[in-house]
Amino acid sequence: MNTFELDQTYIAGTYKRFPVEIVSGKGSLVTDVDGKEYIDMGSGIAVTSFGIADDIWVAAVEKQIRSVQHMSNLYYTAPCARLAQALCKKTGMAKVFFSNSGAEANECAIKAARKWASEHKGPGCSTIVTLENSFHGRTLTTLSATGQEHYHELYQPLTPGFASFPAGDMEALKRLCADGTVAAVLIECVQGEGGVVPLDPAFVKALSAFLKEQDILLMVDEVQTGNGRSGKMYAYMNYGLQPDVVSTAKGLAGGLPMGATLLGEKVKDVFSFGDHGSTFGGNPVAASAALSVVERLTDGFLSDVTRKSELIRSLLEGAPGIESVSGLGLMLGLKTEKPAGEVVAACMANGVLCLTAKDKVRLLPALNIPDELLRKAAEIIREACRP
Ligand SMILES: *Cc1c(COP(=O)(O)O)cnc(C)c1O
Repeated sequence: MNTFELDQTYIAGTYKRFPVEIVSGKGSLVTDVDGKEYIDMGSGIAVTSFGIADDIWVAAVEKQIRSVQHMSNLYYTAPCARLAQALCKKTGMAKVFFSNSGAEANECAIKAARKWASEHKGPGCSTIVTLENSFHGRTLTTLSATGQEHYHELYQPLTPGFASFPAGDMEALKRLCADGTVAAVLIECVQGEGGVVPLDPAFVKALSAFLKEQDILLMVDEVQTGNGRSGKMYAYMNYGLQPDVVSTAKGLAGGLPMGATLLGEKVKDVFSFGDHGSTFGGNPVAASAALSVVERLTDGFLSDVTRKSELIRSLLEGAPGIESVSGLGLMLGLKTEKPAGEVVAACMANGVLCLTAKDKVRLLPALNIPDELLRKAAEIIREACRP
């Protein structure tokens, strides 16, 4: 059996894969089993921050994997300690819990909020409010947090204690908070899976002020938007926020599984021994990879992400068949006249890998994609969108 047949036979049918088998790559170029080359405009869903097999990243992983690959959280290891320091220095957050995925980073955020609120506001204060059209993960609890009904249907009963409201509707939020049972509000600054929809800055400002006044935690899901993707270290920085909790994953370790939950001053000491844990969380190889990623996200590098964002936007905005371009930094959504799936298939045929999000074409290239590849990809995408 070839890979396709093995996959169809032995892998649970949860993924509708594109009909391509990738065997190798370098930077923003990948090669399939037939030797065809593609420009990678998806980065494994915003994961390979510096592209495939980047030299600095490989060196960081290799060095650690040859010394100690895993010890568990029963012992001290330097990479996760140094990574936690780097994340706190870059954000002003106070402490970090490491896990292995976005869903786990959000689970930790939710547990932190519930424990903090029960201790500070009483045991009845436990509701986590999220936005409609949000996405927070696939575990039962993060599904419950996800404000999209169609993800919920098959998995009743869900975890109780979640509610959602439409972005922008402060009155709806105030009604949810009226009885004093809301512990935290969890938002994505740009709704990724929801169709690359950035939140309105005026709404975010009003939300943040209201939560501060009510002593309700503001938690930001930076799983997709984080780690330089938006042109800032975290997307909330584009909105002038100082959240109480930040969750992140995807691009953090540049291609190895790692999640992190950053705890601000208010909640930094919420967890004590035994309150939460993870066998693999903070694994030294993943942490070394992440440290190498985070150290490269300097102000100069991030302003280059913004410049690349402006470059590709200028090449796509107003092109025939492209109705609008949304997003921040190198997280962009194209509303196209043709169905998004059709555009992605045409791009693939012509050597560009793109994603979709809802009804949009979604672009998440490596943060260091060379300008000439960005231009070449934009040309192929423009052709694919042309009516
Ligand atoms: C991808 C994503 C998640 C889930 O991350 P996993 O690593 O797949 O568990 C959660 N929140 C957001 C905003 C995401 O984009």
